[in-house]
Amino acid sequence: MDYDVVVVGAGPAGLAAAIRLRSLDPNISVVVVEKGSTVGAHILSGAVIDPIGLDRLAPDWRSDGECPLKTPVTSDRFYFMGQTGSARLPNWPMPRLMNNHGNFVGSLGALTRWLGARAESMGVEIYPGFAATELLFGVRGEVVGIATGDMGVGRDGRPKANFSRGMELRGKYVLLAEGARGSLSKQVIASYKLDSASDPQKYGIGLKEVWEIRSDQFTPGLVQHTFGWPLTSGATGGSFLYHYDDRLVSVGFVVHLGYQNPTLSPFDEFQRFKTHPLIRETFADGKRLACGARALTSGGWQSVPKLAFPGGALIGCAAGFMNFARIKGSHNAILSGMMAADKVHDALAAGRANDELTAYEDSWRASDIGSDLHRVRNVKSLWSKFGLVVGVGLGGLDMWTNELFKFSIFGTLRHDKPDSQTLNPISEVTPIVYPKPDDIVSFDKSSSVFLSNTNHEEDQPIHLHLQDPTIPIRENLRRYGEPARLYCPAGVYEVVYADETRHTEPRFVINAQNCVHCKTCDIKDPAQNITWVPPEGGGGPNYPDM
Ligand SMILES: Cc1cc2nc3c(=O)[nH]c(=O)nc-3n(C[C@H](O)[C@H](O)[C@H](O)COP(=O)(O)OP(=O)(O)OC[C@H]3O[C@@H](n4cnc5c(N)ncnc54)[C@H](O)[C@@H]3O)c2cc1C
Ligand code: SF4
Repeated sequence: MDYDVVVVGAGPAGLAAAIRLRSLDPNISVVVVEKGSTVGAHILSGAVIDPIGLDRLAPDWRSDGECPLKTPVTSDRFYFMGQTGSARLPNWPMPRLMNNHGNFVGSLGALTRWLGARAESMGVEIYPGFAATELLFGVRGEVVGIATGDMGVGRDGRPKANFSRGMELRGKYVLLAEGARGSLSKQVIASYKLDSASDPQKYGIGLKEVWEIRSDQFTPGLVQHTFGWPLTSGATGGSFLYHYDDRLVSVGFVVHLGYQNPTLSPFDEFQRFKTHPLIRETFADGKRLACGARALTSGGWQSVPKLAFPGGALIGCAAGFMNFARIKGSHNAILSGMMAADKVHDALAAGRANDELTAYEDSWRASDIGSDLHRVRNVKSLWSKFGLVVGVGLGGLDMWTNELFKFSIFGTLRHDKPDSQTLNPISEVTPIVYPKPDDIVSFDKSSSVFLSNTNHEEDQPIHLHLQDPTIPIRENLRRYGEPARLYCPAGVYEVVYADETRHTEPRFVINAQNCVHCKTCDIKDPAQNITWVPPEGGGGPNYPDM
């Protein structure tokens, strides 16, 4: 099938690009493929949303009764946490860009569904339940489209009775809007060496739950962030807690994947965070409604790769446009989708096709996205270098000097290595021991996967590819205790023994059907032996409104 523009991923970036293209010229044909069973089913975010992107994309959003973003931020709190106590930090020394007043709290999944409906009403074709699994190349090596995965293939790789061949969607331009660590984006970055002049991308894993809480605990529009406990052993990250709509609270925890201790479990850090006296009370008699996890990019300005390649471009978090210090990326996702759409429109109007969108590449650093990322470019490196307490202080100071004088005493600090290379051997660390969940505010992985409504067709090829199947036991178990067992939030990876004495040969087991598509294994595996590829379209989590 031929289109002018093929978009991979119906997140805020992909949908913004599609909407912008159709509003610039209703004759441009645009198709969007989405691996989730519905638009929004795979979206997981905070979310406190800076409306700069929405104001430009859909200026009527505040008056549109269908738009689900309804709760303005009313209160902004920061805490430093110790094991039993906490200290609230005053708001006045916070850099201005950290101020959340003027932003809105809500579900990015719900907002994405609203954007999807708007795009369809403008004539964009959206295909949920279809994963883009392959890039199609032309004779000059340019990207000319994508192919969606075959459906109805058995675990043994053979077609089943319900087999249907994937589709080829060809376009004059392909926009990759897959979010953090996109599978086709990863291929494109490697094929065209798009990251040869940038620092390695850095990542975090974000775990999130949605709760309905008691009305006496609920403060509409309250936005609260913490750092400190429970993270130890040099790990960095922090929590978010947002009150919105009718007694809903979005609570989450981000752990930066550059951590060193292989016994760290981001999922369990999140669970024990909720047991802190400052936090626990919020959830008293509350009901946990949804749960999930997703990687986010945190490298920022210096890790953004080259964005344009022959035949297309990276947009949104596939490009690394997350502002890690603000824990916000959806505004830049929308802005970058619009910016790429403008350049695609100009190229199509000039009769061009499948060439490099150099105008997009050339304009982002001088745009609002560039200034958003440039001001915070050292925060992540300062946290990593100096640890939380000193790093947060220096990061704050650096944001102030950037804001006031457009200057940093640090210049631009580099990210020296990818997150896959930061683990220390297990023999050199103090193992972290986590408390058992209390099933009141803290829970185990299986009940949490259940709440993510994750579902995969069981009889299909495993979508977590091991380049060398012997490495998990031969190398990772011996050296690191096989950290995949702990960093995977869904319990997909297990090391099992035939009996409890553990004298038998261990086996590495992959429970692929539990995968919530967070992409952490693809990022953190120390041997870079795991490649996440899309499973059969429609599989994965079915987040209600995350
Ligand atoms: C825990 C957490 C908290 C966050 N908090 C905030 C916040 O408070 N405010 C904020 O502004 N931002 C926040 N962010 C960041 C924000 O969610 C992202 O910046 C934003 O979602 C990026 O949009 P995107 O369109 O680039 O990618 P995504 O939102 O990730 O969307 C990508 C879409 O593409 C689909 N897709 C991927 N690969 C394929 C494929 N091969 N074929 C078909 N479909 C595919 C996915 O299923 C998904 O629907 C947070 C992120 C996390 C993880
Ligand atoms: S298998 Fe990988 S992508 Fe899936 S949930 Fe686990 S860490 Fe995330």
